[in-house]
Amino acid sequence: MLPINGLSLIGRSESLPNDQFFYAVNPITNQPLPTAFYQATSEEVEHAIALAELAFHNEVFNSVTVRVALLQLISQNIQKHSEQLIHWYCLETGLPKERATTELTRACFQFDSYAQSLESGYVLQAVIDDGDPNRKPAPKPSIRKVNIPLGPIAVFGASNFPFAYGTIGGDVASGLAAGCPVIVKGHGMHPHTSELAARIINLSLEKLQLPKGVFAHLVASNFEVGEQLVAHPSIKAVGFTGSIKGGKALLAIANSRVEPIPVYAEMGSVNPIVISPEVLNNRLHEIGQQIAQSIALNAGQFCTSPGIIFSQDSADSQEFIKQLTTHFSTCEPQYMLHPTIFNNYTTELKARVADADKSVLGFAKDNAITPSLAIVSGEKFIQNNHLQDEVFGSFCFVVLYKNEHELIACLQQLVGQLTISLFVEESEMNGKLLTVCTSKAGRVIFNGVPTGVEVTTAMQHGGPFPSSSIPQSTAVGADAVKRFMRPVAFQNCPENILPAALKTQNPLAIFRFVNGEWQQ
Ligand code: NAP
Repeated sequence: MLPINGLSLIGRSESLPNDQFFYAVNPITNQPLPTAFYQATSEEVEHAIALAELAFHNEVFNSVTVRVALLQLISQNIQKHSEQLIHWYCLETGLPKERATTELTRACFQFDSYAQSLESGYVLQAVIDDGDPNRKPAPKPSIRKVNIPLGPIAVFGASNFPFAYGTIGGDVASGLAAGCPVIVKGHGMHPHTSELAARIINLSLEKLQLPKGVFAHLVASNFEVGEQLVAHPSIKAVGFTGSIKGGKALLAIANSRVEPIPVYAEMGSVNPIVISPEVLNNRLHEIGQQIAQSIALNAGQFCTSPGIIFSQDSADSQEFIKQLTTHFSTCEPQYMLHPTIFNNYTTELKARVADADKSVLGFAKDNAITPSLAIVSGEKFIQNNHLQDEVFGSFCFVVLYKNEHELIACLQQLVGQLTISLFVEESEMNGKLLTVCTSKAGRVIFNGVPTGVEVTTAMQHGGPFPSSSIPQSTAVGADAVKRFMRPVAFQNCPENILPAALKTQNPLAIFRFVNGEWQQ
C-alpha cells in the first residue's frame, strides 16, 4: 500500500504541512474524508518549476527510448496499485467500481499507446530532405526536421475523470511522452486519488533514476497555485480539462504573459444529436433506448454527454419524447461527483427549464439525480442563444424543428462542439447537413451516441471553441502528444550531433519521411 499524507510531492519528496488545508468530501454521505490536504505554497510552486526547468535540460529524459520505458513502467505500476486507486476513486467520486475499472484500464492504455506512438516515430514526425551540393544555380542545403519538447508544462485535470483526465490522465501521459517535465495541479475534489497517482508516477521515475524535476504534484483546492503556474515564464504550455469558465480564466493569464503560451483547454460541449424523421419512423424504440441510456449514464457527468436532440415536430417525435421520459422515470437516482457539481446542476437546470416550452423534471436531492428533459421549438432555439449552454449532468433539450431549413438554421446557431451525432438513413444524408456539422464539431458520429471516446490515433477529441481552445488539437489519441512539441529544422547539421531521430542510419528504427517517401 502506498501512503497518502496530503502533501505536495516535489522533486520526489513530500512538502511540509502548513495551516492551509482542506478535506475531500464523500458525495454519498456528504461527510468529509479523514486526510487533511495541505495547499501548496507559493515557494513550493516556485521550487517545483525550478526543478522542472533543470529536468528539461537533462539528456537522459530527452532520450526517446528512456521515455518509452517510462510510459510503459507507469502503466504497469498503475495496474499494480489498481486496487488502492479504485478504492479511493470510488470513495471520492461516488462512481461505481465498474466505471473506475474501465477508466483505469483506459488510463493504462493511454500510457502504452503513447509509448507506441513514440517508438514508431509517429509523434516525432521526422522529415529528411537531402541536400545537393551540385544543384545550380545554388547548392541545395540538407534539411532535417523533427518534433522536440516545448519545455515544462502545467496540467489541470477534471473532476469527472480522476484517472483518464487526471494525474494519470491523457495530458500527463502526452506531456511525458513529448519529453516535457510535468507539474500537475491536483484536483481539489479527488485529492487522495490524485496523490496516489502521483506516487505511482514517482515510483516509476525513481526506478529509472530520472531527474527529480520530471514530475511534481501540487496539492491545491484554490486558484492561486494554478494561476502562479500558468503565469510563470518557465512554463511553456498548459493542458486543461474542465469547465469553460476555468479554461477561459487560464487562457486569459497565458495570453497576458510577456511570452504567451498555448493552453490546450478541453471544456464544455452539449454534443447535439440529430434524428431524422425517417429514422424515427423506422427504429424509434431502439434509438429511444440508446439515447436515454447515454443521457443517464453516470448522472450525465461526461464531456460527451448528449444535451440537445433535434427532432422534427411530429407524432413520432412526441412518441420519442414519451419514451425518453418513461426511461428516465425508471432510473434510480445516481450520486453526483460533489455537492458543488450538484448545486451547479440544479442552478443551470432551473435556468434552462425557465426558457423551455415544457419540461419533465427528474429527482434532484442530497447530491443525487435522475435525468431531466425539456422541450423547445426550433424557432425559440434560434432566438435564444443561452438554450445551448451546458448543464453538466443528466439533462437534455429536445428541440422540435419544423423542416430541414429550420434544422440547418438551428445547427448553424450552435457554438463549437466535441461531437455531433446524426441518426439518419443513408438515403437521407446530404452534403449540406454534413458541412454544417463538420463546421461545428470535432467528431461527427453516424447512428451512434456520443458517450464513449475510443483512444485511437484517428480520434479527434476537441472541436471549435468553446469545446476546446485550440481546435486543431486533440486531447485523446497519439496526436495529443504533439500538442506539447514543436518542430525544429536542422540545416546542414553535422551527422554526429544530429538528434537520434534524424541520424542517417535511423538508429531508432522509426518511420520517417525521407526525400518525399515514407521509410523505416
Ligand atoms: P473546473 O471546475 O473548471 O476545474 C478544473 C481544474 O481547473 C481544477 O483543478 C480547478 O481548480 C482549476 N480551475 C478552475 N478554474 C480555475 C481558475 N479560474 N483559475 C485557476 N484554476 C482553475 O472543472 P471540473 O468541474 O473539474 O470539470 C467539469 C467540467 O469539465 C465539465 O464542464 C465538463 O464538460 C468538462 N470536461 C471536459 C472534458 C473534455 O475533454 N472536453 C472532459 C472532462 C470534463 P479547483 O480544484 O481549485 O477548483
